[in-house]
Order: sequence, then C-alpha cells, then structure tokens
Amino acid sequence: MPGFTPGRRWQPAYSPFKKENFGDRALQVLEYSVKGPLFGCRMCGNCLLQETALICPMECPKGLRNGPCGGSTSEHCYIDETRPCIWYKIYERSFQLGREELLLEVLPPLDWEKVGQDTWRDIFRNVAKLGYKKVAGGLLARSAETRKLTWDGIFRPVRQPDWWQGDSKYHAPAYTEPVSELERRLVAGEFVVTSEIAPPLSSRTDKLIHNIEETKHYVAALNFTDNASAIPRMTSWACSQIAVAHEAEPVLQISARNRSRGNLQSEVIGATALGVRNILCMTGDSAKLSPSPREKMEINDLDAVQMLWILRRMRDEGKYLDGREIKYPPKFFLGAAASPFSSNPVFQALREQKKINAGAQFFQTNLVFDVNGLENWLNELARRNVLDKVYILIGIAPIKSLKMAVMLSEVPGVYLPKHILDRMDRANVAGNAREEGVQIALELISVIKRYHGQGIHGIHLMPVGWDEVVPRIVIESGLMPKEFLFDQTSQQEWNNAHPIEK
Ligand code: SF4
Repeated sequence: MPGFTPGRRWQPAYSPFKKENFGDRALQVLEYSVKGPLFGCRMCGNCLLQETALICPMECPKGLRNGPCGGSTSEHCYIDETRPCIWYKIYERSFQLGREELLLEVLPPLDWEKVGQDTWRDIFRNVAKLGYKKVAGGLLARSAETRKLTWDGIFRPVRQPDWWQGDSKYHAPAYTEPVSELERRLVAGEFVVTSEIAPPLSSRTDKLIHNIEETKHYVAALNFTDNASAIPRMTSWACSQIAVAHEAEPVLQISARNRSRGNLQSEVIGATALGVRNILCMTGDSAKLSPSPREKMEINDLDAVQMLWILRRMRDEGKYLDGREIKYPPKFFLGAAASPFSSNPVFQALREQKKINAGAQFFQTNLVFDVNGLENWLNELARRNVLDKVYILIGIAPIKSLKMAVMLSEVPGVYLPKHILDRMDRANVAGNAREEGVQIALELISVIKRYHGQGIHGIHLMPVGWDEVVPRIVIESGLMPKEFLFDQTSQQEWNNAHPIEK
C-alpha cells in the first residue's frame, strides 16, 4: 500500500511494450520499488508527479491525466466505491500546498512507447544537458524564481514532449467569422436553446427524422449523444449527418471512452467535410455503466481536455497530433461538458478553466436543479476570469415521473434538492407528475434567463427521450428563435400544423 498517496490502493505497474535488456529492466524495478510505495506510481513512463502534488493520477480508473471526471465526489470514485476519487485528493492537496495553478497545465496523453519504462534516465539526461554545475547552482539559488526555473528545466521536457507542448495559457480561436449557426447566434448575443436527441437503438431512422423535423425550428442546434451510459446505439456521427441532410444544425458529441487519438482526428476531419460544424468533446461515462459483458474499463486513450487541445490545434495551427500539416484545416466550434455540481465549485471552476484554455468555446452543463448552487459555480468562474471566454448553456431536463426524479438524484454530478423531490412525490400521488416536471423546468428557465449577460448564454434541454415536449418548453419560456418570432404568420401556420403536446 503506498505510503503517501491517499488512494491507499495497490495497483500493478504497466509493462513495457517491447522486450528490454537486463540493465533497463533493473532500472525500472528500482524506480518502481521507490516511487510505487511513495506515490502510488504505476510506471506510466510520462511522469507528471511534479504537477499533481506528488500523487500519481494513474490510480484513476479512467487514467485521466488532466483532472477529475464529472462523477468525482469527496466520498469516493463513482466507478469503484471502494476507493476515493484520486483526482479529488490531488485537488485537495494542491490547494492545501498552494500549488493549484500547476493543475492548469494541459498534460499530454500517454506515449505508449514509453509506458512501463523508467523516467529517471530522462531526468538525468536533462540535468546533463543543462550542466551539473548550473543545475546545482540553480537549485540552491536564493531566488525562488531561479529555483523554479531550474526545476522546470529538468522536469518540463519529461512531461511535455515536443509533439504536445501543453501550457496553462488561454488560446483564443485563430479565426474571426463564426463557423456555425450556433456560434453566429451566440456571438450576436441571442439567448439560445439547444436540445439533445438520443440516437435510435436500431438502424431505422423514421423516429429520428421525425424528432429532428419537429424540433429543429425551436432550437439553435440539436445535440446527438455518443453512446450515453456506454450503451451502444446509432453513432452520433450518423445522426449528425442525417440532421445536416434535414437542414438542422447538429452538435456532434464525441466521447473519449471509445476513441483512440488517431480515430478522433480522422472522424472530425470526415464530419466537418460533410457539414458538421459544432463538436462537443467529453470524456464519457465509464464502461462500468454499460451492460455486461463489459469492454476495457481502465485507461482511456484521451480525456476531454486532451481532445480539445488536439482539435483546437488541428483547426488553428493546421497540424495533426504527430506534427503533419493539414493543407485545408477543418473548421469547427468547439464545446465541452461542464459540471457545476460535481466536486466542490472551487475545484470545478479550475477544471472548467483548463478546458477553456485547451480550446472549449462553449459549455453545455450537466443538469441543474438548484440555482443557488449554480450561482456559486458562476462566481468561482468569475474569480478565474473566464466568463468572457466561453458561452455557457445550462442543462435542464423536464422530469417525467417520480421514478425519474429519484434516479436523477442518484446520478453523480447532479444535485436534485429535496423540495423538488417532494413536489414530484406529491404530483405523483395527484396523478400529474409529467405536468409538474414541465412546470419545474419552466420555473428554472425563467430564473436562469435573468443571468443572460452575466455569464449564461442559453439553455441546453435534455428531454431524455421525451422530445415532443421541447416545442412546448421553448414557447412557454419565451425562447423561440428570433427570426421565427418575427414571422408571426409562418409561426401560426407552423403551430397549426404541429400541435404541441400538453
Ligand atoms: S471519480 Fe472519475 S476522476 Fe475520480 S478517480 Fe473515479 S474515474 Fe477518476
């Protein structure tokens, strides 16, 4: 059991990909026998302990290297309740030590050619390159700045290889004209609505097309989820293509869970060539949530921050991850998931800032049922000075039943206050739970609308299969898209032809 890591969990070291000679193997065993007990090291070969308060993040079941997932809590990891969330522990210790700003550095995915190998040799090589005398002088210098620079000169090349070069800075998009309709509306200052459509479970597309047609006039864009809860369905990519063919604006959701770095890059090049302009990067639910038999449950190839970093560089620098030039770089408006209620708002704001720095231009948040808690999170984002760098759409779900309310109250990262549960309970007894769910959603939207211009730019509806209710919510909350409102005659004609569900 590691001595200092709060994970208190022994996990085996990774094995090197290729056969090693005796000397290399001996060095690996030596490094592991020191760093394993001390830091919970798993020999990832790309050491970043300097940035993570000396706690190895490879204890995270998803292998996340840039911060916690949306399921993190102070109690335990949402995938394995027998252990704490190691990223929560890293955040706690970093804040205690005043090292939290180090957590903003965008860290690379693993280089699997190095996995299982020692990092000590890389460190010694860097010291030799800098000069032993200079290093000794720098580390013993009076000035804290010199000590820091020397230290960084030794360790930065280990954690930031040439092909990545991550940093802690904000990188504004390198284009000026909006690349999608959603971006155009947000730039124009509209309070927008987007809505999620769950892709079909079979290859039949009639219901999907019906949902797209019935919803597209009421919202700025339609999100297509990417195997939510790790349950296979029609790919988000195919649904987005169908939406484009039906003149709707899609948001292509891409989760890291089922993707390699190569596959991510080729998919977005293909999707943008076919007209998709909004891409939402998410780490994705763990395969632990999927039905059995389960796929690999450990170590994603990428996390959401790394996806954003790769895609932003493809667009703005015209470069693949391996450095090859892209002659005609793809154009897209990049989004990410945000989670106001996952861990404590201070930690979460830091995590959101990292996503913004990496490339997120808009956030669609997890479900919000508590506006006070939302305000705390917004205040933390304001403290981090990022509210003018990202458009935020707040996740709202109309609750269909008491059962759904109870289920939502147990979802990691969702906070459903007791008064809402009580309301759904009473409505359930009275037999009007669906209507109560819609009223709760409308009340939340009317309060959230007041934050327009103060960090919030719209609503993201998640109807969870209840797509027919979207038009009603949009109309009754007074959020019909502008041009539709201007044309009152066509709106009336449209309403007559498409009676909304009550
Ligand atoms: S809660 Fe998420 S971030 Fe934390 S250890 Fe578990 S998988 Fe990793």
